[in-house]
Amino acid sequence: MAKMSIDDKLGTLKFTTNEEKSHIIINEDFTDEKEIMRIVKACPAELYKYENGKLVFSHEGCLECGTCRVLSHGKVIKSWEYPESGYGVEFHQG
Ligand code: SF4
Repeated sequence: MAKMSIDDKLGTLKFTTNEEKSHIIINEDFTDEKEIMRIVKACPAELYKYENGKLVFSHEGCLECGTCRVLSHGKVIKSWEYPESGYGVEFHQG
């Protein structure tokens, strides 16, 4: 079997996004840039952006890996839970 690139593997995923509710809530008042940048750099789906001194997040395309939750230590992320049943990522390559 040919080795797949990360982009190829990500292309096999299917997402069902809950447009009404994000399963991750960020603390928009948190301002420690060093802590914020750890999460921006670590998210494999690049869902966190730090623009003009403000953290911007979109839950669309989340891989549900939990990396941001672990690195946040309860500071940057206010709440993290898996998407409700019927929503989220579907893995097809194990
Ligand atoms: S759970 Fe993983 S993919 Fe989803 S926002 Fe956090 S770090 Fe990114």
